[in-house]
Amino acid sequence: MSDNKNYRFGTKAIHAGVTPDPATGAIMTPIYQTTTYAQSAPGEHKGYEYSRSQNPTRTALEESMAALENGKYGFCYGSGLGAIDAVIKMLNPGDEVISTSDLYGGSYRIFTKIFEKYGIKFKFIDMSEVENIEACITKNTKLIWVETPTNPMMTIIDIEGAAKIAKAHHITLCVDNTFSTPYLQNPLDLGADIVMHSVTKYIAGHSDVVMGALVTNSEEIAEQLGFIQKASGAIPGPQDCFLVLRGVKTLHLRMQRHCENGASVANFLQSCDAVDKVLWPGFKNHKNHDIASRQMHGFGGMISFSLKEDTKEAAIKVLKKFKLFTLAESLGGVESLCGHPASMTHASIPKAEREKVGLSDSLIRLSVGVEDIEDLIVDLKQALS
Ligand SMILES: *Cc1c(COP(=O)(O)O)cnc(C)c1O
Repeated sequence: MSDNKNYRFGTKAIHAGVTPDPATGAIMTPIYQTTTYAQSAPGEHKGYEYSRSQNPTRTALEESMAALENGKYGFCYGSGLGAIDAVIKMLNPGDEVISTSDLYGGSYRIFTKIFEKYGIKFKFIDMSEVENIEACITKNTKLIWVETPTNPMMTIIDIEGAAKIAKAHHITLCVDNTFSTPYLQNPLDLGADIVMHSVTKYIAGHSDVVMGALVTNSEEIAEQLGFIQKASGAIPGPQDCFLVLRGVKTLHLRMQRHCENGASVANFLQSCDAVDKVLWPGFKNHKNHDIASRQMHGFGGMISFSLKEDTKEAAIKVLKKFKLFTLAESLGGVESLCGHPASMTHASIPKAEREKVGLSDSLIRLSVGVEDIEDLIVDLKQALS
């Protein structure tokens, strides 16, 4: 596919990066399970030298990722955290990062437990009003880290507003777009410099691959990321790239259903007696519903809710009663999952920090899958009765 820009999302999901194999005409990009490539003379090759640097199956996927995020350069990693690791490695000791306070537990862990040791400083702030960012900027601030919607509080952060602040201060803006996927939100179009994905979730979509990706339009950033990818080596293998290339072909179809089912589940939960708050950006009374409507093309299938009986025990009772919603870490697969952030994904965030952002003990997070909605509602009804 030569000119990605002329195609719409679904067409890109199916075709971008993928051309029939030049050797055989195979429609699907082969799994190039090879470490090295024959050279006709020293340094004379076809663009592939060693599979840590480049692999044709990975190249196809990296081009697909770039096209879906309307970016020029795509990079894939062995996990979402591998991708985050690469972004932070662009920084130097003494540099400061301003990050949203309510973020993925693993991101918080790598920032505070790994990179603070190397002299990089992190500030975690409420970004539901982007003006809060401005107040924290110092001459050492080099990166703003945004995750929206946030996990698990479903807070919406104004990407365009954050990008204006970042640009005015010459600070790089990176957006973790895992929850929204490129189908629902395109941070680069809103002014972000880098978009990050845990491909593990919606993009791969079938709960069978762990992978991360970064996309940028900046040649300068791409050069650094390419170097770090090769020098640090956090690459995905060709088998996994193949599986994601396969999964991504239905990303738009799956997301349509995730959004439909998400809306139905959110509305149902709101009508339940046992439920206290339902956190979903599609509600008109959600704090930043206006921003969500502007920057997202749909509200997705991630929903958090708390119980009127606000205890861990009450939450566990509900979780144990689910039959279709499986209790598990992760999200974004075709099957519905449920989780208890305070003791699972966010256990590495201290209780005091959790309470600051309102992550209560009874909070349950749902990743609404693409099953038939009638069956999901029956399951919710019996678990909450
Ligand atoms: C899962 C996740 C990550 C980490 O990705 P892995 O693929 O598990 O390493 C980062 N950010 C968000 C929002 C996630 O959900």
